[in-house]
Amino acid sequence: MNTTAVVTGANRGIGRAITTRLLADGFTVAGLHRSGDLPEGAHSYTADLTDAASVSAAFEQIRADLGPVGVLVANAGITKDGLLARMSEEDFAAVLDTNLTGTFRCVKAAAKDMMRERYGRIVLISSVVATYGGFGQVNYAAAKSGLIGMARSIARELGARGVTANVIAPGFVETDMTASLPDKIVADYKSRIPAGRFAAPEEIAAAVAFLASKDAGYVNGTVVNVDGGLGMGH
Ligand code: NDP
Repeated sequence: MNTTAVVTGANRGIGRAITTRLLADGFTVAGLHRSGDLPEGAHSYTADLTDAASVSAAFEQIRADLGPVGVLVANAGITKDGLLARMSEEDFAAVLDTNLTGTFRCVKAAAKDMMRERYGRIVLISSVVATYGGFGQVNYAAAKSGLIGMARSIARELGARGVTANVIAPGFVETDMTASLPDKIVADYKSRIPAGRFAAPEEIAAAVAFLASKDAGYVNGTVVNVDGGLGMGH
């Protein structure tokens, strides 16, 4: 089993919590980030997911420094919310480029090592919105549901080589991404979440830690909702 884990968007929010958790679990963690700093103990690699060359250069460097990648957590993502009627093609394309194509770039780079080593754990961070839909989130939901098809296709392609690909679909999590939501929307969502609250980033990291572990070898192509019950039945 290879213990080098790559986490994208490792500098803040959910990605930072995942990095901290995987370090605590004994992984060597390479944090991919385009700004900020990383939790102590993580190895820092800068890359912009919208730039294919910078992603492949970062993975080459990780491989050279830390050996083959055994775990990839594709976490980085953005929102550019807006009602369909007013959503620009640029805002649609930008969200797809970061959240879906950016993930593809990372998965492709990491899978190279995993296929060779016949071991790998790929965890894609989607969203409850992928299957629930999100008001003003046509671009974001399209990208996040695309990750489910991506993971399931990888699971079919690489399952026989000891590589798993799974999706975590978080509900609302207390990070910068949700900090700017209007109070009315926050109250509305909380009323629909059986848990009655948003998640802490560490609660998403705990689910990632399981899927990234050796123990999760027979869990493949699944979507794990970590959403306090918001998305039940979707
Ligand atoms: P944040 O906005 O707090 O952090 C986003 C992270 O992604 C940052 O590290 C950011 O880097 C990085 N990032 C964005 N664009 C790029 C890029 N082009 N290249 C490299 N890094 C990039 O988000 P969260 O922590 O809340 O979300 C993390 C993931 O979880 C996202 O995929 C999000 O869609 C998903 N999610 C979040 C939910 C929530 O309620 N918060 C709910 C469901 C899913 P930088 O600091 O440089 O901007």
